[in-house]
Amino acid sequence: MNTRQLFRHSRIRLAFWYASVMAFILSLMSMGVYHSLVESKWWAMKQEMESIAGTLHDSLEPMLPTSGNPTQVLKVIFPELCLVNQPCNNNPSMIQRHTTGIGDRTTYYLRLFDHHQNLLAFSPHQPSQLSSRLESSSWQIVNLPNGDRYLQFSIMLHSGNSHSHDNSSWGYLQVGRSLRVFDNEVKQIQLILLIGFPIALTLVIISGWGLSGVAMQPIYQSYKQQQQFTANVAHELKTPLASLLATVEAVNRVENNRQNTRTLLNTIERQGRRLSNLITDLLLLTSLEQNSSQKQFQPCCLNDLINDLTEEFLELAVSKNIDLTCDVCSTPIHTLGNESELYRLVANLIANAIQYTPNGGKVYISLNTDQKKAIIQVQDTGIGIPDDQQHRIFERFYRVNCDRARKTGGTGLGLAIASAIAKKHQASLTVESIIGKGSSFKLGMVII
Ligand code: ADP
Repeated sequence: MNTRQLFRHSRIRLAFWYASVMAFILSLMSMGVYHSLVESKWWAMKQEMESIAGTLHDSLEPMLPTSGNPTQVLKVIFPELCLVNQPCNNNPSMIQRHTTGIGDRTTYYLRLFDHHQNLLAFSPHQPSQLSSRLESSSWQIVNLPNGDRYLQFSIMLHSGNSHSHDNSSWGYLQVGRSLRVFDNEVKQIQLILLIGFPIALTLVIISGWGLSGVAMQPIYQSYKQQQQFTANVAHELKTPLASLLATVEAVNRVENNRQNTRTLLNTIERQGRRLSNLITDLLLLTSLEQNSSQKQFQPCCLNDLINDLTEEFLELAVSKNIDLTCDVCSTPIHTLGNESELYRLVANLIANAIQYTPNGGKVYISLNTDQKKAIIQVQDTGIGIPDDQQHRIFERFYRVNCDRARKTGGTGLGLAIASAIAKKHQASLTVESIIGKGSSFKLGMVII
């Protein structure tokens, strides 16, 4: 599987898992919303029916007869209700008056039963297929063969003249309503969820794909950098090794002349050292990147560090006829850090300044303070670095001019190491350069 395929597969998997988790959360949420909406509507409907039944119950009870045939009395109390086995009149009903203010007045119907649970009277618009016997439970859902559903609530009635301790019932009052409106509303909610869920899921899949692409981007970049790094290491190791092998072959071929042997051995030694330096730099860079702990930091005197380094590089500068000057402020400046690492950082800047400055040029090193920061500056009058490459010189193995820099013997890791050390010390390392005029590297560190 090549890199592109590998990353495409990972992206698909990431998007798939993202979409699955989101689909699960979405379905849980829709189920919750659906349930609570339906439940609240159902509860409100029951509350309304209970309140209608309660109001009717309170107004009816005092008027109910204690004994005898109730038919005549009921005719007087409920002229708008139809009595069983009697012709029906369709005047505005009592139930309609009591349900004033409720959206649909014809939604409700009323039925009266005697204490043997037989139907006595009913609203004229009650559904025709209802049973004339009362069920024992107070709440009932009636499903009619034509598909209509009704909810009924029954409440016991006592006659108005019975004594308060007399528990015998006069009969039952039943309030019912059609569930058509409720069922339609539930269907509407279901429809909204049914249409909304796939739309939401599609949006989740699209955004999941986009987001997984964004998430993969830094991993892809880092993977590409690693690949580039491996290729660079292989390339860097190949050159001195090839040279070593060629030299050894030459030693075997040439006649054993002492001078020749010495020259060839010198080449072997030089290439061996280059290999060794390269491996040491690689190990240092790896350890710097892996261990960013500041535990072993100690106070370091930057004045001493710069003076020591100037002294060390003076000989090299003189040999190249370069004017190396140093300006260190008189007050001691201390910073918290690893002295040998800081030494390595500044040494690399000075070595580069000397290396990339032609004979007769100048290198100027200074140490100053700026607010609470120590500023170490290494300035040269060398070849300079093109604008578009200044940000790349801190990359591993990056050389502005490959062939020329390799000839000078640098590993191409110097500034990458310097940048890693600066990062570990939370210091800033910047470069300003004008091609043909020179470069200036600035290191800013917190003073203690
Ligand atoms: P090298 O071992 O090649 O010197 P570095 O990481 O130290 O590697 O530097 C990277 C590149 O940055 C060099 O190859 C060189 O082209 C450029 N460079 C660094 N310092 C300077 C400088 N003072 N003047 C001009 N170019 C520089």
